[in-house]
Amino acid sequence: CADSAMYYAKESGRNNYQFFTTELNVRAQHRYALEKNLRRALADQEFLVYYQPKICLKTSRIVGAEALIRWQMPDIGIIAPNEFIPISEEIGLILPIGRWVLEQACRQTRLWRETLAPDLVVSVNISPRQFQDPGLSKFIQQALDEAGLPAQGLQLEITEGLLMGEADMLLPVFNAIKDLGVSISLDDFGTGFSSLSYLQRFPIDNLKIDRSFIRDIPENHDSVILTNAIIAMANALGMSVTAEGVEKADQMFFLADSGCQQMQGYYFSRPVPVDEFEKLLAANKA
Ligand code: C2E
Ligand code: MG
Ligand code: MG
Ligand code: MG
Repeated sequence: CADSAMYYAKESGRNNYQFFTTELNVRAQHRYALEKNLRRALADQEFLVYYQPKICLKTSRIVGAEALIRWQMPDIGIIAPNEFIPISEEIGLILPIGRWVLEQACRQTRLWRETLAPDLVVSVNISPRQFQDPGLSKFIQQALDEAGLPAQGLQLEITEGLLMGEADMLLPVFNAIKDLGVSISLDDFGTGFSSLSYLQRFPIDNLKIDRSFIRDIPENHDSVILTNAIIAMANALGMSVTAEGVEKADQMFFLADSGCQQMQGYYFSRPVPVDEFEKLLAANKA
């Protein structure tokens, strides 16, 4: 179809306009199909939550889990969140999807805390659109109550991008969440473009150093300096630090020596389905 559009554009000489309108149509149709599929996926419960362990660098034990959504599409397989979360955010579908993840994660974590890991903390990613939803803190309280999970068992991960712009309007939301006893982590830290002053203005408990810094330690001198600086700053401000994307033993040793509290990454485990995470927890307990 794109080929015939190209041909048509050539045929019509300097007038490329037709080519672009055709391509836009193709894209709009593709998008429309994706939107339709997403709405159906929610109704038909095609989403799954995977869990990736967070490891305490002092004790080498699993202390937390990040809940990461997957889309199990019939006949197609598992689809990664980057393929559908941004569009869900655009069309507002992230609100029901996000609520579903939160409910699942709270229930699952309550079960794990009862059986295998009494202090396990689950982290749930919250997109900007969800954070701007005035009903968020009320819904969190409800999800905790329904699951029987104490607030200390839940952490929210938000990205720096959220804090750009009219950030002052978000302060009451932060405070409401903190009042519940739920902790807040700043995800992909170091990749946003907002000012560091928000670390003072908002009640943030944990910084999650972006994978791009971790990737090149300990070989790359600049990455080492930046990672050390982030850890020192966070700890001095009373925040804990989690390193994401840890793939090698060298990175783990470096982080343990640098005062970083937690790590997460393929080195220990990829995100896994519930039954596999349970095996990790059982081994962790033994
Ligand atoms: P994120 O919150 O930064 O999650 C970490 C991502 O890094 C995950 O990708 C995880 O699989 C991947 N990762 C973990 N360890 C390693 C490693 O050692 N090496 C490499 N190369 N990658 C690693 P995933 O699961 O594909 O999720 C991508 C993004 O989608 C997440 O980034 C998050 O922003 C978003 N997301 C996932 N689940 C949800 C959700 O329930 N709600 C919302 N709003 N966003 C979600
Ligand atoms: Mg995250
Ligand atoms: Mg992250
Ligand atoms: Mg990331």
